[in-house]
Amino acid sequence: MNILVVEDEPKALSVVRAYLERDGHRVLEAMDGERALLLFETVPVDFVILDLMLPDICGEEVCRRIRASSQIPIIILTAKAAEADRLKGLEGGADDYLVKPFSPRELVARVNAVLRRVSPLESMRVLRFSGGLSIHLEEQGVFAGKRQISLTPAEYRLLLTMARRPLQAFTREQLIARAFDESYEGCDRVIDVHIKNLRQKIEQDPRHPLFIQTIFGTGYRFGGTIL
Ligand code: CA
Repeated sequence: MNILVVEDEPKALSVVRAYLERDGHRVLEAMDGERALLLFETVPVDFVILDLMLPDICGEEVCRRIRASSQIPIIILTAKAAEADRLKGLEGGADDYLVKPFSPRELVARVNAVLRRVSPLESMRVLRFSGGLSIHLEEQGVFAGKRQISLTPAEYRLLLTMARRPLQAFTREQLIARAFDESYEGCDRVIDVHIKNLRQKIEQDPRHPLFIQTIFGTGYRFGGTIL
């Protein structure tokens, strides 16, 4: 999950980042509202954690602008403890809010609670699919029936990215953006190599894949059905 954290206090930002990364998320950072909106428009973001007191555009405005085009989950961080301010945050389209100072552990719990509500698939600990394939997110283990399949980190990230959205077609560029971080230097064709290896490992018949399907002219999709 790519989480955009918008927070102008470096210390708070690094604590939040550490806890979210420990929980298996990727963190994108913005220290002001303009940067947050720019990242939101240019990078795949699945979740936003938004401080209200920012040096340029206020968090309420950032929230409104994101809501104008997206139903992505948003949690607001606020030092404004007054009831009216809390309600304003929720009226502006936030899914939840947390009053500062908060415990980072509670923030992670709130993120997961919002995810369970808005996107059950994202928050499941084990994804089970037709055909006996399962992905255990905490252990990052993949199983065909009871047999554990050994995947490289790149193969695992690719598989998880697609399996979380069954039947959605992904271009190679989208897979690179979603499954790998900014330091990834492989080209599109490297994705094809990973896909070929994944098929060898998870498909019963790699020439007629059930799970990793080619969408001609586009890229790939995950063909399994969630159970
Ligand atoms: Ca602030």
